[in-house]
Amino acid sequence: MKKYLLPNTGDFYKANLHIHSSISDGEMSPEEIKKAYMEKGYSVVAFTDHEVMVPHPELTDGHFVALTATEISVNQKSDCDFCYTKAYHLNIYSSEENKSCFNSFDSSKIWLNQSFPFITPEQKNIGIKRIYTTDCINEIIYMANQEGCIVSYNHPVWSLQDYTDYIDLKDLWGVEVYNNLCAKDGLLDSPKPFDDMLKNGECVFPLATDDAHHLQDCFGGFVMIKAEELIYSSIFSALKNGDFYASSGPEIYELSIEKGVINIKCSPVSFACVSTDCRCTYTKRMDDSPLTEITIDIGDYLKRVNTDMNKRGYIRITLTDEVGRSAFSRAYYINEIME
Ligand SMILES: [Zn+2]
Ligand SMILES: [Zn+2]
Repeated sequence: MKKYLLPNTGDFYKANLHIHSSISDGEMSPEEIKKAYMEKGYSVVAFTDHEVMVPHPELTDGHFVALTATEISVNQKSDCDFCYTKAYHLNIYSSEENKSCFNSFDSSKIWLNQSFPFITPEQKNIGIKRIYTTDCINEIIYMANQEGCIVSYNHPVWSLQDYTDYIDLKDLWGVEVYNNLCAKDGLLDSPKPFDDMLKNGECVFPLATDDAHHLQDCFGGFVMIKAEELIYSSIFSALKNGDFYASSGPEIYELSIEKGVINIKCSPVSFACVSTDCRCTYTKRMDDSPLTEITIDIGDYLKRVNTDMNKRGYIRITLTDEVGRSAFSRAYYINEIME
């Protein structure tokens, strides 16, 4: 029986899940951001201004959803130049459209005059002191999840972070595999932290974002969300469930598995790879013309995983086009792909 890995029902909605407006250190107003993204075919933007959670329900209509979010930072205590300072940057996305305060708020982190007016009276009574430890980050993630939010781990390369900084993080929802601003600055992220977290047993989703502060940073990294309706609750549920893929270019139109064979319909790509939790990979390269319909038989991996009773086994798919841009699926676990 054919199993759809990206849902067969609903529609795709293009989204940028990381941007800064003039409420923090971005150049454009929220209204200008909506206009610019809608002109490029996007339906969803998450407004992730630094350190304050500012809802934009006035921007949501039948053609656009403004997700309520914030980006928080936790810097390593250091006497050295900031350019050498490690930092955790996390995006917190709210399930509630009108949420304007969050538990891990830290007033000492606000450094921009234009952000102060957005601290709500309620928020003034809530806050913690953040410290650069895995325990503190896990507490922040836990508190965010408790209040119905989901949390992403942003741009590890820009943050000067390595395996030791992220491997013990628990219950993250997403990790950036591509951040357009960082890529433009030559600080290119990779799927390595995503893979490391998956292999460590964390069910985390890959994200490609813009992290735009100016118009020239926009339209590089996006996610395609498959949702039933273009309304806040439906878009948030699809994100939380992993009904999306991340990309810096290629588009996936259909992703399914039948009798151990992965079927992909996509925009033209030159290379397709099915990765797994082990050394076992499956690849297809273009011959004369780019690939748009791809079938990859992973039957022997499924047999191996079944024999090993390795229930955490998974596959994930990467498609790369001729100019090196990639689309990343989430990981699909054995119980999702076995018949
Ligand atoms: Zn950041
Ligand atoms: Zn950012």
